[in-house]
Amino acid sequence: MKILIINAGSSSLKYQFMDSVSGEVYAKGLCERIGLDGRLTHKVPGRDNVVEDIAMPTHAEAMAAVMDILVDPVKGVIASTDEIDAVGHRVLHGGMEFTASCRVTEEVCAAIERCIPLGPLHNPANLMGIRACQKVMPNTPQVAVFDTAFHMTMPPKAYIYALPYEYFENDNIRRYGFHGTSHRYVSARAIELLGGKPGLRIINCHLGNGSSLSAVVDGKCVDTSMGLTPLAGVPMGTRTGDIDPACLQFIMNKYGYDVDTMLNICNKKSGVMGISGVSSDFRDLETAAEQGNERAQLALDKFAYEVRKYIGAYAAAMGGVDAIVFTAGVGENSAEMRARVMEGLEYLGAKLDAEANRVRGQEAVISTADSKVTVLVIPTNEELMIAQDTAALCQ
Ligand code: AMP
Repeated sequence: MKILIINAGSSSLKYQFMDSVSGEVYAKGLCERIGLDGRLTHKVPGRDNVVEDIAMPTHAEAMAAVMDILVDPVKGVIASTDEIDAVGHRVLHGGMEFTASCRVTEEVCAAIERCIPLGPLHNPANLMGIRACQKVMPNTPQVAVFDTAFHMTMPPKAYIYALPYEYFENDNIRRYGFHGTSHRYVSARAIELLGGKPGLRIINCHLGNGSSLSAVVDGKCVDTSMGLTPLAGVPMGTRTGDIDPACLQFIMNKYGYDVDTMLNICNKKSGVMGISGVSSDFRDLETAAEQGNERAQLALDKFAYEVRKYIGAYAAAMGGVDAIVFTAGVGENSAEMRARVMEGLEYLGAKLDAEANRVRGQEAVISTADSKVTVLVIPTNEELMIAQDTAALCQ
């Protein structure tokens, strides 16, 4: 089936039009500056990129611009919007309402709306994306795919926070986890590559600008590093990851910050950017560290150390580990970071093959033949997962 995938942000809307079986991407692009002026960047493999300034007061105009360019006789890839079999929407927070992807109905929209307090920035934008599609393609089936859904198999001991229980009962405050579509894709692929043995224990390391790890037994998530929001877990490009919450009280009192200012610092100015003062981009940090920048080196050391600690914790949680998977921008491309993370994990039975680890951006086994734990690089493909879910629910 030909599926249009939509990932709507507060002022942006990414799209990808692809085949759910072959994975072929016909076109993809981005609407930016929605609500300000509006710009569309449209990419078709083998052609020059198209950039156009188009007025986009709301997501509806952005969606209309996407439709127009997809059917444009010169820049487009289809003759009519009837060729779009279904639309798959990436939705950030499904709360406790969604354990899997589902067809969009009014009830589903109402449930996504109920989850807005948990995803205040993304869920309203995701809903706007859905409404905009309903407006321009009223007869095309739509599916919502949730970033949190894969993690809903976690047992209570993994998802409960040690806060007074009423915050869980009354307000649904708990660990949810994110990057679920990526964790689902790479663990399914790892199981396939390892011959589909039942009971496999996998640790996924999705290391990118945002990073999260998950522990997966028999294809089901049993723990993950992000929490109520994507701020928890390992340090990230600009996010703190886990810290002592009392740090916040100390800083807020000393500098007179309100909660929003403090959380903005935790989300946008911390992580490896905060430690290094150089960049949130791991390539920049590796370059700066090579040139002797000690804080860039410290940021990289801290990141690798925290990822390694999570691997140890998840191995303990699962009573061992059969495979460790690296994915996303850093996990797929940085041999150096993979080597740093794996340093000292021989005690777990994980031995990295330095030569095999030189791989970039492609599927590979990077552990030695005698390693008890198989270490893999698996490029993630969240779009393909969304397309497959959408096709399966719309056939
Ligand atoms: P993502 O959020 O998955 O797109 O990942 C983005 C991150 O991957 C950025 O910090 C990039 O610097 C990092 N990245 C991409 N390629 C490389 C590379 N060859 N070496 C190190 N980091 C990389």
